[in-house]
Formats: sequence, structure tokens, C-alpha cells
Amino acid sequence: MEPYVEAWRCLHQHPGVAALLAGLLGTLFGSFANVLIYRIPHRLREEWKADAAAILDLPAKEIARDDTLTRPSACPQCQHRLAWWELVPVLSWILLRGQCSACHTAISRQYPVIEALVGLVFAAATWRFGLTWATPAVCLLSLLLVTAAVIDLKTQILPDTLTLKALWLGLGISVFGIHLSPQDAILGASAGYFSLWLPFWAYKLLRGIEGMGYGDFKLMAALGAWVGPAGILPILIIASLLSVVGGIVHLRRTKQSLRTAFSFGPALTTAGLVVLLWGPL
Ligand SMILES: [Zn+2]
Repeated sequence: MEPYVEAWRCLHQHPGVAALLAGLLGTLFGSFANVLIYRIPHRLREEWKADAAAILDLPAKEIARDDTLTRPSACPQCQHRLAWWELVPVLSWILLRGQCSACHTAISRQYPVIEALVGLVFAAATWRFGLTWATPAVCLLSLLLVTAAVIDLKTQILPDTLTLKALWLGLGISVFGIHLSPQDAILGASAGYFSLWLPFWAYKLLRGIEGMGYGDFKLMAALGAWVGPAGILPILIIASLLSVVGGIVHLRRTKQSLRTAFSFGPALTTAGLVVLLWGPL
């Protein structure tokens, strides 16, 4: 028998090993998420500045070519080129004790946390969906969702480039019978969008306050395409509870009023992944 057929059968028989391998692969994708978390808001700001200059008839602003993905990784402080072992997800941060090996500038805890988080979600998806096409699809979705949630947390922006990709991916794969039926995926996306759009407008008309952003509606539509109409209510309940807890922690730490902008994206994403990975199939 071909060796790869043998390996595949072995992974079928040992789902724990498959989940572990997927988790290790996930930490590499987590490193990629860290790059995107840095790059996307930076890029968006550049594009908005260029658009604003064009609308205001100011001299055109050239957008610098983005080489974040091709440039070799270096310390942003001292430009020290990272050795291969300094690029190993999670472990390198622990071995370096959270410092650059050359200039000892602290490296944000965000890096290992995101790497470990994406790894865990990849492992959970593999455990849940086994060796089917749904597993790589859900892994890709989780990469988009974790990236979107962290960007929202840091900048209060939910980039279309992430939420809409998650939506079209969910609708697209349903046509091939992967994960949901097309009917459930479309109904879920539609129900997801309006489940936040309607209360947003009701609240705005009654109180004149905008409680959410349009990014939240698009994110909810994307989640709906993956959990179907039945998953919408559980997501809203879990996300609301998470927001209340998150809101209290945020208020205690920053002593700001409740009126200050508070991103709903991280709670929605977490709830979406919980329903997708632990909800009824
Ligand atoms: Zn350095």
C-alpha cells in the first residue's frame, strides 16, 4: 500500500493525533494572523488617507508598496534579522523570555497568545469534523475570524476583507455539500445580518444612538452562513453574555463611561466559534 494511504488511514484511526498535528500547523497560521493583524489596519489607513486626499482635491498620496509578507522577519526596534528558531511559534517567545535576542526590547504577549489560540481552534476543528473537507474550511474560517476579532479589539474596525471572505467562503462551500446545505447557509447569512440590523435601526430611531457598526452586521451574516438559521439565537445569547462580562472588566480597568466605543466583534466571533465547534451538528 502507498505510504500516504497508510498515513491517512492511521490518522483516521487516531483522531487525537490528527488534532495534535492540525494544532501544530495552526500555530504557524497563527504567526500569519499576527502579520495580518499588523498589516490590514495599517493598509486601510493608508487607503483612507489617499481616498480623502482625492475627494478634497489635495495632491495625490502615493500608497507605498506593501512588502510585509515578503520581507524577511526582523525586530522592529533594532532590525536584527530573526534566525529560524526565533520564528518557531510560541516556543521561540518562551525561549527568548519575551525579549529580542539582540536589543532585549520586549516582544508583545499578543504574538504567542494568537499563535496558541489559532493552534487550539485548528485542533478543535479537526477533532470535531474529522478528516473531511469541512475541517480545512473551518480552519480557514477561524483564521479569518481570529484576525478580525483582534483587529476589532485593537482598532474598533471589522475589515470587510475578512468578514466578507468568511461570508462568501461559507456560502460557496455549501454548494458542494460541504458543512451546511445551500439553503441553511443562505438563510443563516440572511437571518444573521437582519438579527443585528433590525435592533440597530430600532434603537437608532428610538434613542438616536448607534450601538453597533455595520461591520458587526456583516460579521453576523458571515457566521450565519456557517451555523445556519438555528445557530443565530445561541450566538446572540452567548455574545451578549460575553459582552456584559467584557464590558464590566473594561469599565473597571479604564474607568470610562458606558458610552465609550466598545467593540462587539470579539464577543460575536468567540460565540460563533463556540456554536460551530461545540453546538449540535
Ligand atoms: Zn531587537
